[in-house]
Formats: sequence, C-alpha cells, structure tokens
Amino acid sequence: MKASEFEVKQPQTAIVESSERITPPDADEVRHIVLNIPDATFDYIEGQSIGVLAPAPKDFGNDTHFRLYSIASSREGEDENLAQIAVAVRRCFYIDEVSGERYPGIASNFLCDRKPGDEIKIAGPYGRQFQAPRDKNCNLLMIGIGTGIAPFRAFMKHIYRERNEWLGKVRLFYGARTGMDLLYMNKERDDMSNYYDKETFKAFETIARRPYLGEEPPIEETLMDNAQEVWSLVQDPKTYVYVAGLSSLEKKLDRVMSQMAGSEEAWQEKKKELKHQRRWQTLLYD
Ligand SMILES: Cc1cc2nc3c(=O)[nH]c(=O)nc-3n(C[C@H](O)[C@H](O)[C@H](O)COP(=O)(O)OP(=O)(O)OC[C@H]3O[C@@H](n4cnc5c(N)ncnc54)[C@H](O)[C@@H]3O)c2cc1C
Repeated sequence: MKASEFEVKQPQTAIVESSERITPPDADEVRHIVLNIPDATFDYIEGQSIGVLAPAPKDFGNDTHFRLYSIASSREGEDENLAQIAVAVRRCFYIDEVSGERYPGIASNFLCDRKPGDEIKIAGPYGRQFQAPRDKNCNLLMIGIGTGIAPFRAFMKHIYRERNEWLGKVRLFYGARTGMDLLYMNKERDDMSNYYDKETFKAFETIARRPYLGEEPPIEETLMDNAQEVWSLVQDPKTYVYVAGLSSLEKKLDRVMSQMAGSEEAWQEKKKELKHQRRWQTLLYD
C-alpha cells in the first residue's frame, strides 16, 4: 500500500503520549499507543483509521512507508481527551522465503519503538463506511480477530458511554491465538469488562486449540455453537454486522453463514442484500 493510493492532503504531526504493551511477554507484542494530535480540526468517527507515514529504508525508493491503523478511541477522544486517540499496534515480522531470514515490518516496528514525546507523521482519517448505526434500537453483531478488536473498542465506548445506553443487542465474537493474546480482554488490560454488566451486551471469546502449531482461533465454531442467535440476528432488519481483522476471516464466515443459510447460494444472496442495505461492513487486512 502506498501513500499515493490514499489522499494524503496534509500530513500532520502527532506526539506519542504513551505506549503500553497490552500482551504479556510470552505472547506476541501488541501495544496500546496514545497519540496527541495538536491540530484541533482533526475529526473522526469510530471505525475510521489513520495513515502512519513511517520513514522508509533507503533502498525502498520512497521516502515514507504508509500503513493504516484503526482508531481504537471513540469520537470523544482517548480518556475523554479530545486531542488524543489510541491505536493498537501488533509488532509484525516477516520471514523471507528465499533466505529464511526474519525481517521487521517497517511501520509497525517504527510505531512500537516510539517513546513518549516522539513526533510522528499521520494522515487521514480514512474509511467512513465502517460506521455504527445511529438508532439505539439497532443490533450490532461484531466479529473480529486480533487487532480487529480496535474499532469495536471504539464502538463500545461510543454506544454505552457517550450515547448513555443501547437498547438493541450487542454481540461481540472475538478470537485470538491464546488467552494472553486477547486484546483489551486479558489480564494486562481489560477495557471490555466496563460493559459486561450491560444487559444488552454479550461477548464470546475463541482461542486456538494448538496455537504453537500456528493454528488460528476457530471463531466459526463459536459462531456455529450460537447459530440460532447469530442467524436470527442476521435476519433481523435492525441488525448491523461488522467484520474486522485478518482477511482470512471472510472465507471462514462465508462457510459458517452458508451452513446457517442452508446453502452457499442462499448465503451469497443474503450477503448481497445485507451489503446493499449497508448492514454488512468489513475492515479486513493481511
Ligand atoms: C484498514 C486497515 C486497518 C488496519 N488496522 C490495524 C491495526 O489496528 N493494528 C495493526 O497492528 N495493524 C493494522 N493494519 C495492518 C497495518 O496497516 C500494516 O499492514 C501492518 O502493521 C504491517 O505493516 P508493516 O509496515 O509493519 O509491515 P511491512 O514492512 O509493510 O510488511 C508488510 C508486508 O510486506 C511483506 N514483507 C515485508 N518485508 C518482507 C520480507 N523481508 N520478506 C518477505 N515479505 C516481506 C509481507 O508480505 C507483509 O505482508 C490495518 C490495515 C488496514 C488496511
């Protein structure tokens, strides 16, 4: 992804306010990074992402390396501070297939290495289509893996704290490799526990059975275990479905939803209808 694919009208400066590791040392590193954005005209809604312009290595041909990160804060800012937003960043590494060497991902390592007081360049916000409904009676079905929890953290804060109460059903299906990798729902940081007493909210966690073999969390099984509720929600015209995280999630959902719908054709037809009504929204990446 290049900055030129997105409109980077006016990159702006953000200052790192804090950077906190939210997974234990024996899990993959993910950091909750709070950024201070001095420009008071910076405006966003839950579900949007910022573009980070990291310095590119010299031999890459570009000055900057552009990557998107979901805003994990609601529109009222992080910790009620309008000038601040948070992002959840996984420190990525890639294995070169030819040499077998391990390389650090450029933007994620750049961000995870920043210290409080450091300045970075950001652009955006981008992606206004991943948007929570306005009506408090609507149901939200949120399905996510890994850092895909970030926009849902923002949604939850907005609907339960800023809108005071939410009357529709809110269901979160969330998967991570291990219990330690559950973001904002583990011992390091459990922001989601702010909502467990809400009558309309229920969370369903999934972790991989054999994470050491690189298995992904079987979120489709958790959905299938709750098929009756999931499918009746999908059928309800007041339900909005959100899918976020790794792009491999989409195929898994197609399979499980096809089972619920009775056939692949029936599901594809339903999905088309949901998309048309803007009731099926995805925020997926590799
Ligand atoms: C809408 C959106 C929202 C996102 N939100 C988040 C978020 O909230 N949190 C988050 O952590 N991420 C998020 N991402 C992913 C993020 O944008 C980056 O893609 C991710 O952090 C990796 O970027 P990087 O610069 O660290 O890695 P890069 O250096 O860009 O590497 C990325 C790719 O390059 C290839 N590659 C790089 N180096 C090598 C190598 N040496 N050998 C072989 N292959 C290599 C790999 O195939 C890899 O897939 C989001 C993406 C999108 C599109």
